[in-house]
Amino acid sequence: MHSLDSDENEIVKLVRDFVDHEVRPVVQELEHNNTYPEKLIDQMKDMGIFGLAIPEPYGHVKVSTACYALVTHELARGWMSLAGSMGGHTVVSKLLLTYGTDEQKEKYLPRMATGELRATMALTEPGGGSDLQAMTTRAHVDGGEYVINGSKTWITNARTSGLVALLCKTDPKAKPQHRGISILLVEKGPGFTVSRDLPKLGYKGVESCELSFVDFRVPSDAVLGGVEGQGFSQMMRGLEIGRIQVAARATGVAQAAFDDSLRYAQERESFGKPIWRHQAVGIILANMATKLMAAKNLLMHAAETFDSGARADMEAGMAKLFCSETAMEVALDAIRVHGGYGYSTEFDVERYFRDAPLMIVGEGTNEIQRNVIVQQLVSRGGL
Ligand SMILES: Cc1cc2nc3c(=O)[nH]c(=O)nc-3n(C[C@H](O)[C@H](O)[C@H](O)COP(=O)(O)OP(=O)(O)OC[C@H]3O[C@@H](n4cnc5c(N)ncnc54)[C@H](O)[C@@H]3O)c2cc1C
Repeated sequence: MHSLDSDENEIVKLVRDFVDHEVRPVVQELEHNNTYPEKLIDQMKDMGIFGLAIPEPYGHVKVSTACYALVTHELARGWMSLAGSMGGHTVVSKLLLTYGTDEQKEKYLPRMATGELRATMALTEPGGGSDLQAMTTRAHVDGGEYVINGSKTWITNARTSGLVALLCKTDPKAKPQHRGISILLVEKGPGFTVSRDLPKLGYKGVESCELSFVDFRVPSDAVLGGVEGQGFSQMMRGLEIGRIQVAARATGVAQAAFDDSLRYAQERESFGKPIWRHQAVGIILANMATKLMAAKNLLMHAAETFDSGARADMEAGMAKLFCSETAMEVALDAIRVHGGYGYSTEFDVERYFRDAPLMIVGEGTNEIQRNVIVQQLVSRGGL
């Protein structure tokens, strides 16, 4: 399906073993107590997972996007929240690598590679996440500094991240609007408050928060790349890897739902035989596996396109759309196969069903992905 080199295969195997031996035995307790998985995140840091997108001289092991996607897939197979803890971090890593000044790279990337410094991105506002150009968070220059006012919502890892890539308007009057948008690299300080943790259906253990900025001051060199007005297009490129990451989270959840179902269907008996031998159940399993394989292939296609350096918004959008819809369908099918136990909080299946919808909504809803896909189909002249 895809070709990883032997080092990359070893990395994926290391993460798979970590998930089977360290994550799966504790996930139910962490999930149901909504506990921040500090020990597991520390282990992920030790394994170098937060640096997988950061090459030398800032990091140690930069892997292909296919490898990165498979690592994400494995983590999400154990617990989607763990995969979520390194999603925004990777987007910010890629933004810094691609657009950052030398000073910005030196300042942040070495500590991000080890996980000592974690990063997140703040795009969405209470007034809307899809229509980013209508954002109201503003930064104006005063005395050689930016002064930021506004609010953001649903920002993942906001409490545990020391660096926030903040999308905001530095020129609210610009036409078209996107020319007035910049990314500011901000660290916490007076005027920047993580104001509330949002209650959620799933994605437990990691925080999703509201942020408030009141006359919050940052130095003028905080603008990514040192040039104002580039933030919208920078973030669109960053979201390509973000959407590949979300697609990989989705295949991980779908993989876990399928694996549990295949096993259960061989153990559980009714009418004197394992339930997989009832054709209706067998068909469900066959469909689950087929969709999952298609999703993984689309994910790998997006990863390879991204690594080619070509524009990959359509491919990332297709992967994110298909993988997340597949995760939702497969998670529901897993409940069917498990019968009443599928509805029990003592089984993992109900968690997959609560985690899967996030991938439909997060990193741009699937309606927005379809908009991106059709725009690219027309401008590229088809497939
Ligand atoms: C758990 C969680 C974690 C998140 N983490 C982050 C994060 O770390 N950083 C961050 O910035 N954001 C984050 N988000 C926010 C997420 O990206 C937004 O929720 C998402 O982009 C949708 O924005 P919205 O919720 O404002 O919905 P809206 O934009 O209000 O959309 C509502 C509905 O209208 C549809 N719609 C809107 N415009 C169009 C259109 N043009 N065409 C077709 N349909 C349309 C949408 O598809 C959706 O169905 C997170 C969200 C969640 C739930």
